Amino acid sequence: MKRDNEIFDLIGLEKERQVNGIELIASENFVSESVMEAMGSVLTNKYAEGLPGKRYYGGCEIVDQVEQLAIDRVCKLFGAEWANVQPHSGSQANAAVMLACLKPGDAILGFDLSHGGHLTHGSPVNFSGKLYNPHFYGVDKETGLIDYDDLAQKAEEVKPKMIIVGASAYSRDWDYAKIRKIADQIGALILADISHPAGLIATKQLANPMEHCHIITSTTHKTLRGPRGGVIMMGKNFDNPFGIKWKNGNLRSMASLLDAAVFPGTQGGPLEHVIAAKAVAFGEALDPKFVEYQKQVMANAKVMADEFVKRGYKIISKGTDNHSMLIDLRSKGITGKDAENALNDAHITVNKNMVPFDTESPFVTSGIRIGTPAITTRGLKDADIPKIVELMDKVMSNMNDEEITQSVISEVKALMSNYPLFKY
Ligand code: PLP
Repeated sequence: MKRDNEIFDLIGLEKERQVNGIELIASENFVSESVMEAMGSVLTNKYAEGLPGKRYYGGCEIVDQVEQLAIDRVCKLFGAEWANVQPHSGSQANAAVMLACLKPGDAILGFDLSHGGHLTHGSPVNFSGKLYNPHFYGVDKETGLIDYDDLAQKAEEVKPKMIIVGASAYSRDWDYAKIRKIADQIGALILADISHPAGLIATKQLANPMEHCHIITSTTHKTLRGPRGGVIMMGKNFDNPFGIKWKNGNLRSMASLLDAAVFPGTQGGPLEHVIAAKAVAFGEALDPKFVEYQKQVMANAKVMADEFVKRGYKIISKGTDNHSMLIDLRSKGITGKDAENALNDAHITVNKNMVPFDTESPFVTSGIRIGTPAITTRGLKDADIPKIVELMDKVMSNMNDEEITQSVISEVKALMSNYPLFKY
């Protein structure tokens, strides 16, 4: 068959962009050759509706083994007792959990999107805010830290069926034991969405919610460094603590309710090529080298936050304990949108992001979110970070200066050429 140059030329250009630039989007990473190989494998040809050993299609004996390996490895990685590795994305994982545990109109309590939460935690433009009755907790205006008193008060007022913890832009750890106490007082389930810090949790650099939260969801492509996808896990809360009923009124285990909510509830055939790539990534994450990687991700983020503070930037919560940080640019007199565009022109990729109590719209925003997983995969260490911050500051302090943009592009290319990216 003739090669589709129209598409493969574009893939080549994207590859070049990734190789020559500095990737600081907190939710992105670069997968290994093996993960890429599994994703591009013949497993994409296979239909396998159902679960290992219980399929609706013939010829599944090999993909059964692939999927079981992915399940076993992710359980070992996070100390889970049960997992479903089929969700096509983090959003699909959250949709399945809500479908299993809630009825339309039930109250849910999530972390405010404009304070760092995710769309699927109750935003009115998302299924979670349209199908359910969303309420939100946020961060303290002064400290930028989760306001647990606010969370407890809202929980008491609203009596949500589900409390959702986890964030897309929050640079500190969570107190899962405290949240469990709040939830227990009102009989609410806790969904912990660890999409962002999953790699740091798997390597014990941050607290693991498995012990305290009923259900855990995650993406597999952020700090975890796997293919794009989602996963649902549970620890010991296997037994449907609130007696959620199946459609015929029978009580079922939470595991079977969640399995059914993934397929046939929200998805059809699982992506077995992606599940194979997930299994490879989970295997890589079980290797001791992954602990070193995550430690370096955190060390790089700390140095970066310090460097920004030295240059007069305001970091929400004044620093970071994980892989990311949120910078409030209002003191610099520029918007998140302008900063994202100017940095992008200079081949440094970040995303604009609302800051807590933002006065700008989500299309403009007052902040940028930055993360270190991708540059750390490339091999950058503490000593490289001040240069990156210097270059970013140069761009953000000289908006629309073409000469400076061109000089930064050259410096970015020179720096990143020390860290070759792809063998594939
Ligand atoms: N949950 C959180 C906390 C996220 O940050 C994200 C993605 O950024 C998601 C869920 C959704 O993941 P996906 O983009 O795979 O649907």
